[in-house]
Amino acid sequence: MYTVLAGGVGASRFLQGLVQATDPGAVTVISNTGDDVTMFGLHVSPDTDIVIYALAGAVNPETGWGLAGDTFAVVDQLQRFGYPRWFNLGDRDLAMAVHRTRLLHEGVPMHDVVAGLVEAWGLRCRILPMSNDPIATRILGPEGEIAFQDYMVRLRTELEVTGVDFAGAAAAKPAPGVLEALRDARMVILAPSNPLVSIGPILAVPGIREALATSPATRVAISPIIAGEVVKGPAAKMMRSLGHEVSALGVARIYQGLIDVMVIDEQDRALAPAVEQLGLRCVVTDTIMSSAEKKSALAATVIAAAR
Ligand code: GDP
Repeated sequence: MYTVLAGGVGASRFLQGLVQATDPGAVTVISNTGDDVTMFGLHVSPDTDIVIYALAGAVNPETGWGLAGDTFAVVDQLQRFGYPRWFNLGDRDLAMAVHRTRLLHEGVPMHDVVAGLVEAWGLRCRILPMSNDPIATRILGPEGEIAFQDYMVRLRTELEVTGVDFAGAAAAKPAPGVLEALRDARMVILAPSNPLVSIGPILAVPGIREALATSPATRVAISPIIAGEVVKGPAAKMMRSLGHEVSALGVARIYQGLIDVMVIDEQDRALAPAVEQLGLRCVVTDTIMSSAEKKSALAATVIAAAR
C-alpha cells in the first residue's frame, strides 16, 4: 500500500503518475483540508477537488485546478448580488461544493463525504481528508492574519509572509483511517507539494507527525523546489521569507526526522551529498512532470526507492 500526503496541483500531477505505475486500489491519499474555504455559503475543498479531478482525467490541464471546459456563469451572475468575483469557481465545479455543503449540513462526516465523491467520480484509490474537524490555514503578514485563499487567490500571493498558522489544528483529530494508513503502508510519500502550507497543515493535526515519525514504512519526499525555484506557486518565496533555504536541501531539512529518502531533481545533483549528510538516502532523477510518461516514470522511480 502507498500512502501519499498531498496538497493540490503538485501532488495531483504526481498522483496521476502513481496510479499509472501501480494499482490505484493500493493508493491512499491523505488530503490537505487547511485550504478549505466557505465561498457564497458553500464549503469548497480546493486541494481535495484538484486531486479528484486530476485522477478522474477531468482537471483543466492549463491551470492544474478546476474542470476542463468549465464555464463561470454562476460566479459572474453572483456579482449582481454583491458577491466578490475574485474566487474562480466554475459552474460544474460548483456542483461539487453544493453537494459537499448539503452533506456536511446534514451531519455527514467529511471522510464519508470525500469517499462518496471519490466513488461518484469512479476512482479506485482511497482519498482521506486529513481531519474531519475544521482547520484553517492562516497567513500572517505585516498587517496581521488573513485566510489562506485571501492570500493565494485575492492577493495573488503578493504579501510578505511572516508566519503560518493552522487555526483549529490543536483540537483536531486525524480522520478515521489516517493513522492506520501511515502505520500500515509499505511506503509513505510526501508529494512534491508546498511543504509549509500543503504538507504543513497535515503534519499539524495532532498524531499525524508522530505516526509518520514512527511508521515502519519507507518514507519518501519529492522536492517541489527545483534549482532554487518552484514550478508554480508561492512555496519558494514563502520558504525564503520564513528563513528556510530555498532548495531541495531546504525541503529535506524541513522533513528531517520524518523521511528516509529524499528525491531531488537532476538539476540539483550537486546537493545530494548535503542531503545525505542529513542521514537521508538521496535519489536524483528527472522530477519535472511535464507529460504523462514523465509522471509515471517519476512514480516508478519513487516506488523503486522502497526496495
Ligand atoms: P497547491 O496546493 O495547488 O499549491 O499544490 P501543491 O502544494 O500540491 O503543489 C505546489 C508545488 O508543486 C509547487 O511548489 C511546485 O513547485 C510543485 N510542482 C508543480 N509541478 C511540479 C513538477 O512537475 N515537479 C516538481 N518536482 N514539483 C512540481
